[in-house]
Amino acid sequence: MATNGEEQQSQAGRHQEVEHKSVLQSDALYQYILETSVYPREPEPMKELRELTAKHPWNLMTTSADEWQFLNMLLKLINAKNTMEIGVYTGYSLLATALALPDDAKILAMDINRENYELGLPVIQKAGVAHKIEFKEGPALPVLDKLVEDEKNHESYDFIFVDADKDNYINYINYHKRLIDLVKVGGLIGYDNTLWNGSVVAPPDAPMRKYVRYYRDFVLEINKALAADPRIEICMLPVEDGITVCRRIQ
Ligand code: SAM
Ligand code: CA
Repeated sequence: MATNGEEQQSQAGRHQEVEHKSVLQSDALYQYILETSVYPREPEPMKELRELTAKHPWNLMTTSADEWQFLNMLLKLINAKNTMEIGVYTGYSLLATALALPDDAKILAMDINRENYELGLPVIQKAGVAHKIEFKEGPALPVLDKLVEDEKNHESYDFIFVDADKDNYINYINYHKRLIDLVKVGGLIGYDNTLWNGSVVAPPDAPMRKYVRYYRDFVLEINKALAADPRIEICMLPVEDGITVCRRIQ
């Protein structure tokens, strides 16, 4: 049994606010992961893009380095070749994907904001992987509708990473309706930020940023919808802000 002192110590090490992105027990533990196994293995272009993004005012949106490492491993394990990313920002997860895929692989990348993509693009080009990327500027949903219209795109994607539209998270359900047709049986869809700063379990009076509180209900909805979908197997991982990996099984 923990003594009072031990209890106090462990409480002090815990995040006091649900707005913190990592859902781990303590900042020190997260830092330990980054310093022992993530940063020492981070490829130079990923580091360069991470540091460049850190100077951008919206840097809270970027994928973290531990998530890069997870995506890299996952993509290689499934031998992904045809992939899609919804929500690019400066391209940290996009570069992670491009580096993990073979030379003749393809990534359809979509974002409503080209400017931020172009900030990171020189690093992607220098890394020699830009030829794998087809960037489409604009909302993803109409592009998905077009893809779904053509049967030859059905069951054609090995991996799809969804990391956009936090201003309307309910879109994830709209995305899912289309993506489930486009992903291969046995292929994966990764929905990002499904633990939403840990707010999914926060009591109503917990200190929370306004945007976190506002979008929380949408995240709860998508989590329920994914858990109830018999067409997929799911695994919700506490990597960074939570990623739910869905494997299409029918
Ligand atoms: N995956 C990125 C990374 O690793 O840095 C982070 C993406 S950021 C969290 C979300 C992005 O979604 C923003 O760049 C935003 O412009 C984009 N976005 C918002 N609504 C969108 C939409 N309807 N279609 C496509 N992209 C959208
Ligand atoms: Ca994210």
